[in-house]
Amino acid sequence: MVKERTHTCGALRAAHIGQTVIVQGWASAVRDRGGVTFIVLRDRHGTVQVTCDERAPDSERETAKKIRQEYVVQVTGIVAARQDSAVKKDMETGEIEVIPTDVEILSGTRPLPFTISDDTDAGEDTRLKHRYLDLRRPVLQKNIIARHKAAQAARRFMDDQDFLEIETPCLTRATPEGARDYLVPSRVHPGQFYALPQSPQIFKQILMVAGMDRYFQICRCFRDEDLRADRQPEFTQIDVEMSFAPRDMVMRIGTGLAAAMWKKVTGVDIGDVSTMTWHESMDRFGVDAPDLRFGMELVDLKPVLGDSTFPPIANAIEAGGILKGFRVAGAVSDSSRKVLDGWTTFVRQYGMGGLLWGKVQDDRSITGPLGKAAGEAAEAVLTALSAEPGDVLAVGAGDYDSTNAGLGRLRVHIANARDLIPENTFKFCWVVDFPLFEKIEGGWTPMHHPFTAPKPEHMEWLGTDKMGDILSDAYDLVCNGSEIGGGSIRIHREDVQHKVFEALGIEEEEQQEKFGFLLDALAHGAPPHGGFAFGFDRCVGIMTNSKSLRDVIAFPKTTSAQDLMSRAPGPVDAHELAELKIASTVTADA
Ligand code: ASP
Repeated sequence: MVKERTHTCGALRAAHIGQTVIVQGWASAVRDRGGVTFIVLRDRHGTVQVTCDERAPDSERETAKKIRQEYVVQVTGIVAARQDSAVKKDMETGEIEVIPTDVEILSGTRPLPFTISDDTDAGEDTRLKHRYLDLRRPVLQKNIIARHKAAQAARRFMDDQDFLEIETPCLTRATPEGARDYLVPSRVHPGQFYALPQSPQIFKQILMVAGMDRYFQICRCFRDEDLRADRQPEFTQIDVEMSFAPRDMVMRIGTGLAAAMWKKVTGVDIGDVSTMTWHESMDRFGVDAPDLRFGMELVDLKPVLGDSTFPPIANAIEAGGILKGFRVAGAVSDSSRKVLDGWTTFVRQYGMGGLLWGKVQDDRSITGPLGKAAGEAAEAVLTALSAEPGDVLAVGAGDYDSTNAGLGRLRVHIANARDLIPENTFKFCWVVDFPLFEKIEGGWTPMHHPFTAPKPEHMEWLGTDKMGDILSDAYDLVCNGSEIGGGSIRIHREDVQHKVFEALGIEEEEQQEKFGFLLDALAHGAPPHGGFAFGFDRCVGIMTNSKSLRDVIAFPKTTSAQDLMSRAPGPVDAHELAELKIASTVTADA
């Protein structure tokens, strides 16, 4: 019969010696040595050893012998000091053991599909299928506890700053955040659908119009995207919006929120967070989420090599492209042809035609394709890149997007491969002044979302040929090269919102159909407002140094959007479809 425990498994210390205690947990290890049964009991608080030797009643020793790994066991017993030779310094309860007076098996288990330990060799699919076992592994328990702490720290901080936690609906209309919607059919209104929110964006803006002033929510968002390793179809955001707030005020709240979570979970003070513009980030790092934990910044080589007649360079410059590169210090000795070819293959994935690499020799000459390209200008190239003999140089020429993407990602790839990234450091920065729009085939799309305000001084360029130059007060918070959050100052005037929709090619009818309720709200006294959202899973992933987002989510989905435990998504009965007035076009072999 289950009793009230007196202590958790991790709580017992030398101070408890002599006390009678009740502990419960899973048998994480069971050993039988010369008739003595040792059971290590585990719960989420830690482990404790139960020693069933001659000090325990025979009947209880018999029960102990029946215990197998992961049985659920309740032990009443007396805390005793371990013999000196048995003291375990690396175990929190390592000074003591429990000598049972009563052992009860509360529950058994089927044969285990894998062993419950941090360094399990079970494949991820097996672990996800038996997530209840996987979650017993100490590393995952630590992550889930860290996640809880981060959420509590966030709530405390937001409450201290006078934000209200307000829930917004899950059954709603589409919110454009750049992904496909998950749709939910309405039974009551056949042929009509709710969309699960890609974010609460429109609702939180409407809360500002409603006078709520400061809102936050730790909420679930749903995006039906082709999944990448670091995405989940449903994920958690800390969503924030505030009224009467200039950009810097919003960013200050963002920094404070990150600082509160990081302090609570990692103990680290993130300190002041620097700010750089989107253009600067692209120039120096090739990406909009720069990893500041190491150097190797990109340098513009147009001033020294822009006149080169070397075809890859001359062609790129003539087409209005860019020319830049970076230096990998002291890499000559271990950069074989295979390694350098690997770099070239790597940048091609991002659309670069190739990589102009060069090795700086002792006499300061450059060998390799870059040597050929540089010719007489070799010394100037070395000066521009601050290069020394023994360095390898990586240079790219081509269009803005692919050259930046290729070189920016190569920089991180090389830093990882050469172990140049310090562990357990967190480097934050805000990236600001994003372009409002991004060119796509046949027009423009918002870089953030269509509710982001153009900078007032660029407003007049809406709908003109300067669309690509319009900047916004949008900002991303970046940590260790990952975007952990982003937001913007919003459009709070109906006429401006109309103009932006128009500039994006959204016709009046579609505007009304999709966003009429927001436009109406903006027309009824909307305060200036702005906000942001943090990707909560990603924050916890970085704080806990987890390789995969799946390691910080209790019940995650695979990269093909399946829950292997509950086996979602799954088929539904024909009568359920009939009730929803839905016919499927999927055939058995589809
Ligand atoms: N709704 C945005 C997002 O989900 C964040 C924001 O602009 O506040 O990315």
